[in-house]
Amino acid sequence: MKKAVYPGSFDPPTYGHLDIITRASSVFDELVIAIMKNPKKKSAFTEEERIEMLRKITRDLPNVSVVVGHGLTVRFAHSIGAQVLIRGIRAVMDYEYELQQATANMYLDDSIETVFFVARPRFSFLSSSVSKEIALNNGDLSKFIPEAIIEEVEQELNPLKKKIRL
Ligand code: ADP
Repeated sequence: MKKAVYPGSFDPPTYGHLDIITRASSVFDELVIAIMKNPKKKSAFTEEERIEMLRKITRDLPNVSVVVGHGLTVRFAHSIGAQVLIRGIRAVMDYEYELQQATANMYLDDSIETVFFVARPRFSFLSSSVSKEIALNNGDLSKFIPEAIIEEVEQELNPLKKKIRL
């Protein structure tokens, strides 16, 4: 039984994330999406909101679950019995960072293997930050954010569609 963890911020999840999730879930028996706590990054969405959004977009994938992870990613992966870390690579910029992380993780725990999925070309420009920028400027998110969660993303980020909180 091969269990993989896909760690990340998912702030918010995009079609690029969903593509990696779908592909990884067809390669491994079980895929755990881990929203990693990162005190250095200020996030636009709470952990609960991100869990909800990820659950919504992966509803049709029975071997996928969503959790919040903490601490060192390899240690977290080990603690839940996973053997593999999944990461996505869009461009050389990702590669340099990811290579460094994967090598450090190898030193930390040699029993965990990092597996990279190459971004599908139509999503290779796509990131959570680009999506946030578009939403903030009232742009069309339909090619970036999965349909099932587009409304909550817009309500949180698009100043013209923001929920009125009483
Ligand atoms: P992190 O803060 O850990 O980089 P992200 O949510 O930004 O979290 O990304 C999680 C993983 O998903 C990273 O490996 C990133 O390279 C990958 N990823 C993000 N967007 C895409 C995309 N459009 N296509 C493929 N992989 C992606």
